[in-house]
Amino acid sequence: MTNKLKIAIQKSGRLSENSLKLLKECGIDIDNGLNKLKTEASNFPIEVFFLRDDDIPQYVEDGVADIGIVGENVLLEKNKNLKLVDKLGFGKCRLSLAIPKEQNYKSIKDLNGKRIATTYSIILSKYLKAQKIKAEIHEISGSVEIAPSIGLADAICDLVSSGSTLFTNGLKEVEVILKSEAVLVANKKLGKTQQSILDKLLFRMNAVRKAKNTKYILLNAPNNKLDAICKILPGMKSPTILPLADKDWSSVHSVVEENQFWEIIEKLKAEGAQGILVVPIEKMIL
Ligand code: ATP
Ligand code: ZN
Repeated sequence: MTNKLKIAIQKSGRLSENSLKLLKECGIDIDNGLNKLKTEASNFPIEVFFLRDDDIPQYVEDGVADIGIVGENVLLEKNKNLKLVDKLGFGKCRLSLAIPKEQNYKSIKDLNGKRIATTYSIILSKYLKAQKIKAEIHEISGSVEIAPSIGLADAICDLVSSGSTLFTNGLKEVEVILKSEAVLVANKKLGKTQQSILDKLLFRMNAVRKAKNTKYILLNAPNNKLDAICKILPGMKSPTILPLADKDWSSVHSVVEENQFWEIIEKLKAEGAQGILVVPIEKMIL
C-alpha cells in the first residue's frame, strides 16, 4: 500500500491547465515535464497521473487512481460507480443538440426519425428516451460538427461553449441537454490514508475558493461616520479600525464578497469613505 493519494488529470486538453493550476494554488509543487505519464509532488503526499479524460472515470473506479478531475459530461457518459466530491468551477460548457441553421425548428419533436451524430451516445439516448423521441444515434469519435454537411446526419449532439464552432459549420443550437463543468471524483472505497490526504486537499481547495470570492478592502473614514460604515462592512468577525494621524479620521479594514462588491462600494462612498483600496486575497481560512 502506498501512502500517497493518486490523482488522475487530463494530460493535454481543455482541463489540463486549470487542473494543474488548482493543485498549484493549493501549494502543491508538481513538475509537469512534457510527455510524462506520472509525477510526484515534492511537498505533498500526492502522485499525479496524466491521462486522456475519457479514461479517467475507469481508472478511478478501478482504484488505479484514487481521485480524478473530469468534465461532468465525461462522468455521465462513462457511467461509472464513482463519488462526486466537488464541482470545480472551470471547464464550463454545455452538451447541446444543433441542426443546420437554415432549418426550421419548433420543438424536440422535430427530431423524430432523424439521424443524430455524437460522441455522447449514452447521455443522448437517455435524453431522447426521456423526451419520447425516436431518432437514430450515429456514434462517431470526433469532428461531430461536420457530420450534417457531409450528409452523415441531420443533427448533432456536441459540446458547446461560445457557439463559434457551430456557427462556422452552419449549425444552430436548438436544445441544451446538459450543463457541465469540471468535477473532482473519487473512488468509493478510499483507504484511510488516502481519505485523510484527500481531506487535507479539500481543506486547501476550499480556502482557495473562498479567497477567490472575497476581496480585502481598506478605506479611510471620518470618525463620525464609523458606525454607519461598519454596518455596511460586516467583515469576518467585525471590521478592523485603526486611527489615522489626523485625529478625526480612521482606517477601516474588512473583507467583502465579490458579488456584493459594487453595491458595497457605492454605499461606502455615499457615507463619506475615501481612499478605498480593494486587494485580492490569496488564501482564506475561517
Ligand atoms: P482527450 O485527449 O483527453 O481525450 P478531448 O479532446 O476529449 O481530450 P477536450 O476537448 O480537451 O477533450 O475537452 C475536455 C473537457 O473540457 C470536455 O470533456 C469538457 O468537459 C470541457 N470543455 C469545456 N469547454 C469545452 C468546449 N467548448 N468543447 C469541448 N469541451 C469543452
Ligand atoms: Zn477525450
